[in-house]
Amino acid sequence: MRVIFHGAAGEVTGSCHEVHAAGLRLLLDCGLIQGSRADEARNRDDFGFDVAAIDAVVLSHAHIDHCGRLPLLVKRGFRGPIWTQRATADLLKVMLEDSAKLAMADAERAERRLKEGRGSRDDEDEREPLYTLDDVARTLKHVRALDYDAPTVIAPGLTLTLRDAGHILGSASVELVERTTAGNGTDPSDAVTRGDASRGGVLVFSGDLGPKGTPILRDPAPVPRADLVLLESTYGGRLHREREATVAELGRVFRDAWESRGCVVIPAFAVGRTQELLYAFAQHADDWGLHRWRVFLDSPMAAKVLGVYERHVGLFDDEARRVWAGNPHPLRLPNLHLAESTEDSMAINRIESGAIIIAGSGMANGGRVRHHLRHRLPFERNHVLFVGYQAAGTLGRRLVDGAAYVRILGHEVPVHAQRHTVGGLSAHADQAGLLDWYAQIDGAPPVVLVHGEDDAREPMARELRRRFDADVELARPGDERDVGA
Ligand code: ZN
Repeated sequence: MRVIFHGAAGEVTGSCHEVHAAGLRLLLDCGLIQGSRADEARNRDDFGFDVAAIDAVVLSHAHIDHCGRLPLLVKRGFRGPIWTQRATADLLKVMLEDSAKLAMADAERAERRLKEGRGSRDDEDEREPLYTLDDVARTLKHVRALDYDAPTVIAPGLTLTLRDAGHILGSASVELVERTTAGNGTDPSDAVTRGDASRGGVLVFSGDLGPKGTPILRDPAPVPRADLVLLESTYGGRLHREREATVAELGRVFRDAWESRGCVVIPAFAVGRTQELLYAFAQHADDWGLHRWRVFLDSPMAAKVLGVYERHVGLFDDEARRVWAGNPHPLRLPNLHLAESTEDSMAINRIESGAIIIAGSGMANGGRVRHHLRHRLPFERNHVLFVGYQAAGTLGRRLVDGAAYVRILGHEVPVHAQRHTVGGLSAHADQAGLLDWYAQIDGAPPVVLVHGEDDAREPMARELRRRFDADVELARPGDERDVGA
């Protein structure tokens, strides 16, 4: 078995790794590159492999930086199955349709600028949408949904098992077991389910791992064995604050914001973070004085995702299942308003104070949150609350880094609003969590670090070497690595 690294090798977005196993070519994830306009332009480039030669995709979870180029893959000739967890299959539809709509809107804007004679080279490239809703519909037909912990023979000699990664609903770590011989039976599944000793190798891809104790979700499941581990390292260089400290800090932000008579804008991923926040809102509504606020979820996509969460209660942890048993809508506070239309969204701008606005995108480089930031950033009474990772090159990162001015939708916007970064709500395990997950795998197998910037991967590599004497590499685009060699 062999792995070739294409995306999220030295950066956080654009997850995509190619695997050659059992005579097949697979992709682990096929994610969108996110960041500056120049970064995002790379989504239109060649994939770096022959698309028609790819036999199948295994998708770890529905975040767009893991699944967002799938429709482009299909548009360029991919015809194989896309294996993924059942809840991810449901979320995928919501995510990709939204992504296609954004791509189509971008293309229309580029076309308009060109027609008005104020277009640029970039606009020339962008007048054709990256993909459309038709491409998404074709992509969804390729999806094959699996349950967690159900070993499945996806080709003769190759077994796939998905394990709960505890990151967002449906998120999975991927275990691929290859056998070098066909075994003694004619049915390949028979040898594989017996754990035949003639296996050729076990490749484990962590996917994105959640921290232990994430509300709603179960903790990441252990993976028993591996000959090579591809390990995410988004937060490989830091330790999160204790969850209680985070809860106290959120309470302080809401109290301060109430006293300054402002509004709070929270850029949040529509999948995962938004649901976790709403769950925290419901649990701490009294402590945080939330009843006096108007809470807006300004993301039709996040609202759809609420529905998907409500359909998969069986995947929740014990506590969340108890909460759901007693209340059919624990994510929906009585003062929660869902802004569906653009008019609903614009109406929020008229509220001077007392509104908490949760809107996408999570890194503020797209979506409705940009309009809210444009409106709210110039005033000191307002607060912006960052509750997730802000990748290099995004508007969110510039704000977190303290920019005095930012450019939003063609406007130069002064930044006077107060900014807060609350790390403890992360959907990603911190260094200790990643090390704990790795420690559960038998025999300290070699590791390739993916999905992290170098300032996160380097400390992670040092810790893996120091504590486990592990063989650790940092993946670079184009690197190749044999499994079990
Ligand atoms: Zn993710």
